[in-house]
Amino acid sequence: MSDIVGIDLGTTNSLIGVVESGFPILLADDNGERLTPSAVYFPDGAEPIIGRAALRARSVAPQRVVSSIKRLMGSAQRAGPLDLSPEEISALILRQLKGNAEHAVGREVTRAVITVPAYFNDAQRNATKRAGELAGFTVERILNEPTAAALAFALDRGQAKARIAVYDFGGGTFDLSILQLNDGLFEVRATNGNTQLGGDDIDAAIISHFAPEFSELSPEQAARLREAAIELKHRLSFEENASVELPFYCGAESLRVQLTRSELDRISQPIIDKTRWHCARALADARLKPEELDEVILVGGATRMPLVRDTVREIFGREPNTSPNPDEAVAIGATIQAGVLAGAISNVLLLDVTPLSLGLETFGGLMNVIIPRNSTIPIKAGEMFTTAVNNQRAMSIKVLQGEREMARDNWQLGQFEIEFEPAPKGMPRVGVQFEIDANGILHVLARDTRTGAERVLELKSAVDVSDEAVEKMLGDSLEHAFEDMTERTWTEAALKAEEMLRAVESIMTQSGAGMSETERAQITWAMSEMREALASKTPARLQRANAVLDEATQGLAALILEQAIR
Ligand code: AMP
Repeated sequence: MSDIVGIDLGTTNSLIGVVESGFPILLADDNGERLTPSAVYFPDGAEPIIGRAALRARSVAPQRVVSSIKRLMGSAQRAGPLDLSPEEISALILRQLKGNAEHAVGREVTRAVITVPAYFNDAQRNATKRAGELAGFTVERILNEPTAAALAFALDRGQAKARIAVYDFGGGTFDLSILQLNDGLFEVRATNGNTQLGGDDIDAAIISHFAPEFSELSPEQAARLREAAIELKHRLSFEENASVELPFYCGAESLRVQLTRSELDRISQPIIDKTRWHCARALADARLKPEELDEVILVGGATRMPLVRDTVREIFGREPNTSPNPDEAVAIGATIQAGVLAGAISNVLLLDVTPLSLGLETFGGLMNVIIPRNSTIPIKAGEMFTTAVNNQRAMSIKVLQGEREMARDNWQLGQFEIEFEPAPKGMPRVGVQFEIDANGILHVLARDTRTGAERVLELKSAVDVSDEAVEKMLGDSLEHAFEDMTERTWTEAALKAEEMLRAVESIMTQSGAGMSETERAQITWAMSEMREALASKTPARLQRANAVLDEATQGLAALILEQAIR
């Protein structure tokens, strides 16, 4: 039997599930716990310990416990006493889940679907995939968390058509996704988020409320204060005030920390408010008004906070749906997807979207978008390109990601050259195809259509871009929209003007004989006007010069036509 497991590899907690008799089931460990804290304790000279026991070790040996490793995923940073990479540490957590699952189902499991935030970039997705492989899995699919959550909700409701927003506020990440369900076909219409925003930030804000000089605490004191802050935060989701006693906190002295719901609200408000912008952006991208949504689903442990629920209610003008267990929805969705891939569940299809546009650099340093932002993946798209210079022997393909009009303002993901036989400009035909596979990995193919020679670039080691950078890209594209457009319009007009100058020049030398002196003088003057207009960088002047040259070359055009006919 070939089982595929579904895994939610969370910042704070991880879960694993499998489809049994057509139903997604989350599997528990030997203690009956389904949530495994994503924490690893590295005891001196012994095997690493994962989960709840690792969390307990945090107050006695904080330097030996690694948690929230997901925040470093895809980066070159290393952590813990063994100086391991984020994927190596994540692999330890995954291996633990694998063991728990095998124990629960009584057979080996080797294939997995693993979820990631919708906003993870290529490097982060690949790191997640590698973590799975290091743990002994064949990773069948990397699935976006909000998609997984909506899937869990849809299967639960059995609804045929719905527009769903998933507000996912976890330990370390925030995502807002808008999905459309149409008779078993799932389409992600828009997604927006920040992988550096979550409940951890609220913990940090509570800690600095209690201990502004946090850096002066010993590592043990800091760890104990963090535990207390988290406990207070959790209790204040259900109580109006809470306090925690920390015995022997400072030598023989104890520390008592207390907090009220309204104090917590004040402390966490600026953090929760940051989610508003992402919601607005996703709605705008999906071209939907809040009232056009059928459902808003809350996912992630931090959505238990009353202030988060109030904020969501305000943004979307409705009561959010809290029916699925916010900790488990993503894992259940991953398990459903695993079931679909294994053939144990049918009638559901999953479609995801690209968070940023992908394209390449063309003449004049312009960004030429091949796959627009928020396109449904998997996707394949292509365009035909040619040369701008005679006898050009190669074309450089620069793969870009971003929302800006000029190539230089976007991120360059990769570059390669495709060579071809020398030919007059405009003759070679190079087909470029972009394909994003179901795991969100980009394959770029360039083919010389004459010889069939081709080159392929797989963007597995795409530039390591932080998620603040993704947000900055979106913000910048809005902020600079006007000047970007002006520059693009100018560049396009200038390219056309240069092309026209070259054409007129060559015709003048070839068929100058048939022209009158006045005509020749007029054209020469119009050309010099055009050159000056180009140098002045004034769009209006270029436009005028274009019209003048057009007018002056009318006779010439007729002449050329006549020649051609003859
Ligand atoms: P997740 O990444 O979905 O596992 O969410 C974990 C985050 O949810 C952590 O920041 C937790 O502290 C937070 N969380 C879990 N339970 C609660 C609760 N009852 N009230 C507030 N936050 C919670």
